[in-house]
Amino acid sequence: MPNFMMSHPLTLTQILEHAYRIHADKQVTTLLPNGTLHRYDYATLYERVQSLANALSQLGVQCGDRIATYASNTYQHLELYYAIPCLGAVLHPLNVRLSPVQLTQIIHEAEDKLVFVDSAYAVQFQALQDKIDSIRPVYFGPKSTDTDPCYEQLLSEAEPAYTWDIGDENSPMGLCYTSGTHGEPRGVLYTHRSMYLHTLAANQADVFGLTEADVVLPIVPMFHAMAWGLPYASMFTGADIVLPGAKPSSIATLIADTGVTVAAGVPTVWAAAYPEFRKRRADISTLRRLIVGGEAMPPSLIEVYEKELGVEICHAWGMTEMSPTGTLSKLRAVHQNLTDTEKWRIKAKQGRPIPGVELRLAAETTDGFKELPWDGKTVGELQVRSPWTANRYYKIERTPEHFTTDGWLRTGDLATIDVEGYVQIVDRAKALIRSGGESISSVALETALLKHPDVCEAAVVGIPDEKWGERPVAVVVCTEKTSENISDILRQQLASEFPKFWIPDTFIFVDKIPKTSVGKSDKRSILAQLIGTQNPTKKLNIQPSRKEIEIC
Ligand code: ADP
Repeated sequence: MPNFMMSHPLTLTQILEHAYRIHADKQVTTLLPNGTLHRYDYATLYERVQSLANALSQLGVQCGDRIATYASNTYQHLELYYAIPCLGAVLHPLNVRLSPVQLTQIIHEAEDKLVFVDSAYAVQFQALQDKIDSIRPVYFGPKSTDTDPCYEQLLSEAEPAYTWDIGDENSPMGLCYTSGTHGEPRGVLYTHRSMYLHTLAANQADVFGLTEADVVLPIVPMFHAMAWGLPYASMFTGADIVLPGAKPSSIATLIADTGVTVAAGVPTVWAAAYPEFRKRRADISTLRRLIVGGEAMPPSLIEVYEKELGVEICHAWGMTEMSPTGTLSKLRAVHQNLTDTEKWRIKAKQGRPIPGVELRLAAETTDGFKELPWDGKTVGELQVRSPWTANRYYKIERTPEHFTTDGWLRTGDLATIDVEGYVQIVDRAKALIRSGGESISSVALETALLKHPDVCEAAVVGIPDEKWGERPVAVVVCTEKTSENISDILRQQLASEFPKFWIPDTFIFVDKIPKTSVGKSDKRSILAQLIGTQNPTKKLNIQPSRKEIEIC
C-alpha cells in the first residue's frame, strides 16, 4: 500500500516556529545576578535565536558539531537550546558542578567545538580553560580578552533572518551526560525525533499537564537531563517561562514576583524551600504544582506540600538515558475516596509509565531475562524501552551491562510494580545493602526516618562488615530542637516497621548531607568518608552536628 500521509519530520524547529507564530507575546523572565528581572517575549527570543544561528554559522559551526554550554538557567541558555539544534548542531550542556578533571574528560570525549560561558561561572571556568585550550569560549558577559568573542556582540553583528533546514528527524540534537551518582558520567545523544516525541508525551494532561496559562519555573538546572525537557515542553504549550539564574536567593520571592504556577526540581530543593514557603512572607498562592524527580520524594514531604501549602506534587521517575521522563505518580479516578495518607503513599511511589514508555520487571537467568510479576511485592530490575530512550551511550560500545540483547535499557534500579502499574523503586542496585545474604533497602530506611518530624534529611549507606558483609549506617540531619535521645527514638520507630537486622547499627548526626552535582544524596562520598576508619566521624568531612555521635 502507498503511504498517503505527509512526511513531516519531527524536529525542534517545529516547536520553535509554533511558539513564535502562535504564542509570540508569551514571556521569558530571567532572574539576573543583581536581583532584577530581565523580561522579553517569545517573538524577541525567536529573533535572537535566528541571529544566533547566523552567528554560529559565521563562527564555522556545522551540522553535527558539538557546542557546549557552561551556564545557569537564563534566557541566553534558552536561546542556545533552540539555535544550536535548529541549525543542525548538537547542544551539549555541561554540568558546572562536576570537577575540572571530569569536565575535561567529558569535553574531550564530546569534542566540543565552542563553549558558551555564563557570567555567573566565568571565574570558575578559568580553572578549566587551560585544560581545554583548543576549545573557543564565548562569554555571555563582557569580553574577557580581545580574542574571545562576546555573545551580545555576536548577536548584534549577525544577519537577522535564518532559514531552518533539518531534513532528517533522526539527526542528533543534544548530548547530555548522566550526573554520575554511582559511576562516571556517560553521554546520551538525543535526536530531534526523540526530543520532539518526549515533548509531546510530557505535555499530556496526565503527565506534566502544562497549559498556555501556566508560568513554568525550572529550578532543575539546564544541564540536568535537558532540564527534564521543560524548555521544549513549555514553549510548545505557550506557557510563560521563569529562569532562576545561577542561585536564586529566595525561590518564594521569585514565585511571588512572577506568578509561577508550576515549578520543577529535585526533592532536596523542595525540602530546603519548605520552611520559607511555610512562613508565607512571600505570596506563593499562584503555585499549583511541583514536578519532582531525580530521587524519591518522601511521603512526609508530599504531605506538607499538599496538605499545608495546597500544592500538588507530581512525582516523576526518569533517567538522563530517557530524555528523561519514564513514569509519573498521579492518582487514578478510583483513588479519589482513599484517605489522605493512602493517597500520599501512592504518590510517593514512582508512578505509572507515561504513554509511550514500556516497562518490564526482570530477573537475570542463565539464558537471558525472565519477566517477573506485577504484584507489588516481587523485586526485580526495572527495564525500559521507548522512542526517547537511548540504545547505547555516546562513544561507548553497547554492553550487556546496560542494554539487553532484546532491546531494553537496564536502568540499574530495583523495583516492584503493582497490579495497577505503579512502580516503586526499592533502591539502585548499586546502593542496595547486602547483609547476611539478605537485602536492605536504603531508600525504605531513609523514607521511614524522614517520617519523624525532627529529621530533615537522611542517607543510609552500607559499610563493609566482616561478619555480615555489609551493615547499614544512617547519616541524619535533625532540627535544632531535637531531643538528646533521638537515636533511640529513631531506632524504635524503625523497629516497628522493619526486621531487626535492617536497623542501622550506627546513627551519625551531621549538619549537612553531601550532595551530588545535581542535588542528590552523594552516597559514594559518604561511603568513601566512612570506610577505612575505626571512628567514622573522624573522617566524615560532613561536619558532625552539635548533637550526639553515636556508635553502637
Ligand atoms: P545518575 O544515574 O548519574 O544519577 P540521572 O540523573 O539520570 O543520573 O539519574 C537517574 C536515576 O535517578 C534513576 O535511575 C534512579 O535511580 C534515580 N531516580 C530518578 N527519579 C527518581 C525518583 N523519583 N525516585 C527514586 N529514584 C529516582
